[in-house]
Amino acid sequence: MSERSADSKAGLKFLAGYPPHLLQQVQAMREAGTLGQWLERRHGTPHQVRTDRQLYDYVQEMKDRYLRKSAPLHAARYDAKLQVLKHALGTHTTHSRVQGGRLKASREIRIATLFRDAPAAFLQMIAVHELAHMREAEHNKAFSQLCCHMAPDYHQLEFDLRVYLTHLEQA
Ligand SMILES: [Zn+2]
Repeated sequence: MSERSADSKAGLKFLAGYPPHLLQQVQAMREAGTLGQWLERRHGTPHQVRTDRQLYDYVQEMKDRYLRKSAPLHAARYDAKLQVLKHALGTHTTHSRVQGGRLKASREIRIATLFRDAPAAFLQMIAVHELAHMREAEHNKAFSQLCCHMAPDYHQLEFDLRVYLTHLEQA
């Protein structure tokens, strides 16, 4: 393998695990400088979810629609400290606190601030991902089915999001 192709491969770290023919397509667009246009064509629509309060309403509405029976969601917020690289793209925490003498589960969803300015489809994708974790801790088959229940094109959106992250990194 030449040094150049080794570099290219390292540059697609967000897309690790995808089939080679897809990686080649992304790499070709990257070299041609057309990734931004590709993304704009597919996901040009922004969203208006600016504040934590709006984020909470957005996630809660989705939860009401698809996961009505799951435990209540207490908070949702954008988190500027979340490293998209390192972590998952968001986090979901369940912690217990003492309230009125008994333990009460508290659930909070944090979403990397990067998604505040991302296309609407990617905020949807990440909200679906974090909501699904309220039911399934692992990224298993049940988790995947739950995501697809909330967003039928979930897997395509995840791929596109990874292309988006690749593009941001380059830009
Ligand atoms: Zn996850």
